[in-house]
Amino acid sequence: MTDDIDEKYLHDWSGTRYGVPAGLERPRSTHELASLLRDANQARTPCAIQGGRTGVSGGASPSNGELILSLERLNQIEEIDIGSGIAVVGAGVVLETLQSEAEKLGWTFPIDLASRGSCQLGGNASTNAGGCRVIKYGTTRQSVLGLEAVLANGTVLGPPNRLLKNNAGYSLSSLFIGSEGTLGVISRLALRLTPVPPVRRTLLVALSENTGVNEVLRTAKIALRDALSAFEVMWEDFIESALAIRARGRELPASFKGRRAALVEVEGTDEQSVEAMLERFVTEQMECGSVVDAVLSMSAQDAQDLWAIRDSVAEIQAGMRPYVGFDLGVSPSKHDAVARATKMALTRALPHCRSVFFGHVGDGNLHAVVGPCANADERGEVDRIVYGHLPTLDSSITAEHGVGRKRKGYLLQSRIQEDIRTMKVLKTAMDPNNILNPGRIFDMP
Ligand SMILES: Cc1cc2nc3c(=O)[nH]c(=O)nc-3n(C[C@H](O)[C@H](O)[C@H](O)COP(=O)(O)OP(=O)(O)OC[C@H]3O[C@@H](n4cnc5c(N)ncnc54)[C@H](O)[C@@H]3O)c2cc1C
Repeated sequence: MTDDIDEKYLHDWSGTRYGVPAGLERPRSTHELASLLRDANQARTPCAIQGGRTGVSGGASPSNGELILSLERLNQIEEIDIGSGIAVVGAGVVLETLQSEAEKLGWTFPIDLASRGSCQLGGNASTNAGGCRVIKYGTTRQSVLGLEAVLANGTVLGPPNRLLKNNAGYSLSSLFIGSEGTLGVISRLALRLTPVPPVRRTLLVALSENTGVNEVLRTAKIALRDALSAFEVMWEDFIESALAIRARGRELPASFKGRRAALVEVEGTDEQSVEAMLERFVTEQMECGSVVDAVLSMSAQDAQDLWAIRDSVAEIQAGMRPYVGFDLGVSPSKHDAVARATKMALTRALPHCRSVFFGHVGDGNLHAVVGPCANADERGEVDRIVYGHLPTLDSSITAEHGVGRKRKGYLLQSRIQEDIRTMKVLKTAMDPNNILNPGRIFDMP
């Protein structure tokens, strides 16, 4: 059967395959999706739910005997209501498509990820994707007004709520956000748009050795207030790798070499006040010695070039294959300590492996990539070292990528038994035959 299925459907972005699927279905309507699920449920056929397959936790990758249900044909933007700033879309609409269609009308969808050209809005909701602007706009959950979703037995819940306030009973949509396709399949979404900001400026600053990233974040929040739309940090090795690639992005002043850099983005209504605010922030930071150098974008191209340094993560990872990627949720006050202690422990235990640290520090999200790892034992060792440096329960093994298959062995580090037991009660109630994404997040008895 797999001979007929294009290779791209056999794994997500992580590249790991888990088995030979039973088939591939690409429904064109909610009705067709419901009928496929009804049949699968009757036949007890397990299903792998697929969006754009940019996930990195193995959630969308099929196991042996699973029927792949791809949402890619539910790709209609049904409506963009410019009066109320609401879009109603099929789950298979690609994130970038909605962003650019909305922008033609003066609105945008504020969730933004480097995978924007392939990931789908249904996938974004099911993983509760974060991205670069959580500090201002929240995660996908804050941008979803309502969903239409299909249960394992083919029951269709919906239509998607479009009201800002609606307390008529339980918010069933909330159950499907972040549950990674284990409770139902999202088929349509009503989303909150936001007006395109008239001015956006990006600033890259090189941090001095003794400055904590949390200290710079704290002063940025106070100085830039609601205008602050992104605060990303790249540790020394990330900057070095990004500059070595140079295929994308731009060259930086020599003063950035060997330092951590913070990418600060600000949105506002008029150019003069935004630039004045940023200049004041940089001057103060340089005067107090926290920042040693800065590059400010003066055009959209400039900003894109600065963001390209942060977005070069895909190329950096490619040079570290086979690597292990991490997506840790840690209080920003602990980012420096966790990054440094973890790196030291990794270098001691696995001297041939490189590690780079970077993250959406403004959102308390620290990423790490470690590789190349020779085999499964080494990957296991890397997992143990990295998760071992996380404060238990006061941290998350996954801030935005989801548990999928890859992190389920460490779920107890972030959630207590009672939480996991309650998740399983919900799973049993909504998918009693365990046909939706079985073995993702946790294993059922
Ligand atoms: C270069 C790169 C950068 C990235 N940056 C970020 C980032 O900044 N922030 C972030 O959060 N993530 C990031 N990601 C991860 C990924 O893009 C997100 O998790 C994204 O939301 C996944 O969407 P998708 O459509 O590709 O879903 P898939 O990978 O297809 O699926 C992900 C999970 O959602 C389930 N699923 C998919 N569609 C549906 C549906 N319609 N109904 C129910 N379940 C469904 C799948 O079964 C699977 O469990 C990045 C990935 C890459 C490759």
